[in-house]
Amino acid sequence: MPEPDRSTVTEPEVIRLHDVCRVFPAEPPVHALSHVSLRVRRGDYLAVVGPSGSGKSTLLNTLGLLDRPTSGSYELDGIETTGLRDGTRTRLRGHRIGFVFQSFHLLPRRTVLENVMIAMIYGGGPRSGRRDRAEAALARVGMTHRANFPPERLSGGERQRVAVARAIVRQPSLLLCDEPTGNLDSRNTGLILDLFDELRDQGHTIVVITHEDQVSERADRRVRIIDGTLTEG
Ligand code: ADP
Ligand code: MG
Repeated sequence: MPEPDRSTVTEPEVIRLHDVCRVFPAEPPVHALSHVSLRVRRGDYLAVVGPSGSGKSTLLNTLGLLDRPTSGSYELDGIETTGLRDGTRTRLRGHRIGFVFQSFHLLPRRTVLENVMIAMIYGGGPRSGRRDRAEAALARVGMTHRANFPPERLSGGERQRVAVARAIVRQPSLLLCDEPTGNLDSRNTGLILDLFDELRDQGHTIVVITHEDQVSERADRRVRIIDGTLTEG
C-alpha cells in the first residue's frame, strides 16, 4: 500500500460554529453575531478581519468560551459547548485554548520563566516537569536567553513572544489571538508573524483577529465580519 498523500488527509475540526447568533439586550437589541457558521480544522491558520464594532471581540469571546451564543451551536474538538456548565467550560478553556492579547498581560514582579510557569499552576495538571515545559516553550519562541529577566526589561515584541510561550505551554488545540500585534511596530509585528508561521508548521491551529493587512495577509485563510455577519475570503 502506498503512503496516503498527506495533502488529502482530512484533519479533524477544532472549531465548528453552526448558525451562531449573539444578541445583546438593549433598546433596540444589538445583533453582534448573526447566523455565523465557521469550521476550522487542525493546523489551519485563519485571520478574522473586520472594522471596529463588527463583532470580532464577540466572536473571539465565543470561540474562547468566555461568552455563550444566544442561539446556535459551538463544538470545540467535537465537544458541544453551549450547554455545558461554567466549571466545565472553564476547564475546557484551560486545557484546549491558549490566548494571546494585544496587551501581553505579563505579571510584572515575576521573571519571564515564572510567567510561563504560572499558566500551568493555574491550569492544574501535573506538577513535575513544569519548569522543563516552560523552558521548552520559551525555546520555541526564541526567548531562552531572557528566562530570568523581568518583563519590564523586554521590548514589546519580546513580551509578546513570552505571552505566546505562555499560551502554548499546555499544548492547546487552539491558539486564539486578539490583535496580537496591535502594540507592536512593523519590525516586531514581522517577528511575531514569523513565529506564527513556525507554530503553524509545528501543527498548531491559529485564529488571529486583526484589522491589519500585514497580519491577515500572512494567514492561510481569511474571513471577514461586518455587522455580525461572516463571509469567507
Ligand atoms: P469589535 O470587536 O469588532 O470592535 P464587538 O464584538 O466588541 O466588535 O462589538 C460588536 C457590537 O456589539 C458593537 O455594536 C458593540 O457595541 C456591541 N456590544 C458588544 N458588547 C456588548 C454588550 N456587552 N452589551 C451591548 N452591546 C455590546
Ligand atoms: Mg474588539
